[in-house]
Order: sequence, then C-alpha cells, then structure tokens
Amino acid sequence: MVLHARSVIGTPTPPASRPKLRQVRVLLAHEVGVATNEERGRYRSADPKRVLDDARAAAAYGVAAGKPWEYSWMLGRDGSVFTQAGEYRASHCLNFNDESAGVIFLNALGLAPTEAQIEAWWFLRGHAVDLGVLAADHEVWPHYRYRATSCPGVLATTPGARWNAPSGDPGARLGHLIDALTVPAVLPPPLPAPDPDPIPSPLPEVFRMLIIVGNDANHSDPRRWVWDGGSVMRLLTSEADYNRLLERDRVGLVKLHPAFSTLASPFWMAASELREYGQAA
Ligand SMILES: [Zn+2]
Repeated sequence: MVLHARSVIGTPTPPASRPKLRQVRVLLAHEVGVATNEERGRYRSADPKRVLDDARAAAAYGVAAGKPWEYSWMLGRDGSVFTQAGEYRASHCLNFNDESAGVIFLNALGLAPTEAQIEAWWFLRGHAVDLGVLAADHEVWPHYRYRATSCPGVLATTPGARWNAPSGDPGARLGHLIDALTVPAVLPPPLPAPDPDPIPSPLPEVFRMLIIVGNDANHSDPRRWVWDGGSVMRLLTSEADYNRLLERDRVGLVKLHPAFSTLASPFWMAASELREYGQAA
C-alpha cells in the first residue's frame, strides 16, 4: 500500500478557497467502469507501473473534463492510493458532495477488487478518519444509492428499490457494497505452536474427584472427611489439612468436586456408610 500525493498523477493542488470535508458520515465507492476487454487494456493490470499510468490517465481525464478533483482518492489494482481531492470537497455525487467523500476503484468494467485493493480500502478509511475527513462511525455505500447510475458495478449488490435519497435524485436506489468492503476483516487467532516436548501431566488417566464429606446423622458434628468417591476415606485433621487440599486443587494436583468442596456444605454421608469406611460416626 502506497499513498501518493497529487503531483504524482498531475492533479493540481486545490485552491485554499475550496471547502474541506470535516467528519462527513458517508464514503461512496465508484469504479472507472470502462469496458476494456483486451488482455492489456487500461484498468486491468495490477502491475504498479501500469497502475500508475492508469491513474495518470484518469487524472488527466478529470483535468480535461474540468473536474480535477472529482474523487477524494483513487484506488489502483495493486493497492496504490492516489490523492485527488483528498481532504477537500470532491465532486463525485451531485447534491451530496458536502456530505460525502468518494473513492474510485481504477477497475475496468466487471473486474472485482483485488486483495490489495480491499486492504488499501480499509487502510484508506482509517486514514480518512485520522485526517478528520470521515467520521469514525462513517458508513460506506455504492454511488447508485445517491444518484441514478450503474456505478460501481461488481463492487456492490444489484440496485434495489428506489428510495428518498438525501441527494434528491428520484433514481437513487437501495443496495449496499460487497461484504469485503463493508464487513471488517477479523483475523483468526493464531494457532498455538505445537509443544515439541510436552511436560508429562501429573494427573493420572482416570482422575477421581475428591469429595468433602460430613456426618449426615449429626450436622453439628464438626468433623470432615475427604473421600475419593471410591475406597479411600480420610479424616481431615485440621483446617490447615483442608487448606493444603485447596492448594493442591489450585495447582492441579487433585480435583475437588465443585458441589462438595467446602467444609460448610459437604456431601452428607449416612453414619452406616461412614462406618463401612472405618470412620466412627
Ligand atoms: Zn460513481
């Protein structure tokens, strides 16, 4: 991605009297839309030299047509960005130029944006916000949403119903840009690197949860046992004994049953069963 100054494409500097855009809420996408079918035709290549030549041709056309600042920026197929009006008001959408900025994709008719263009589009949106041209929460729309036009072709969905556009053009139609230009790309989280030499887990393959047990025959009996759910039952000798258990649970050496892990709400076991484990109930 390269951001080129106006001089690179022969676009003159706008006069100081030209208004500047301040935090406008709409960015419109355009395309050149020239039908060049031949292999080496204009606005088809992503070769930087040819993209620069294409941008100069588009800029020269604008100067000759009396619209040297028609678009805010031009976007080449190699991802190069060329400043045209830049932070100044452009003239890309009649009766809506004070409310919007415009980016033209230098794409021949029917050519989808390249990956480099999509990346540059997102860069440019951030850059325009940094410049204060676009509001941070700006929206992006196809040209046809504000004027009767087939622009910007494959960059947008098929135009839908007419609507009451703020430009006042009764031929404006509803619709939106393609997802690549409207939905922020979210990078998938990086995959964890495989551990070439994993540390052996201290946990056995089958890992029983430890259960804190109380005497169901007498809930005021302060004694608590720790039971592995199988054949091992041990009396907790002190609060420190219990705290050691909690610490071992914290570091992953043992696992306390989440429902029966506190002294206050143990698993209440029948006295007869406690006796089977050799505990005097
Ligand atoms: Zn357009």
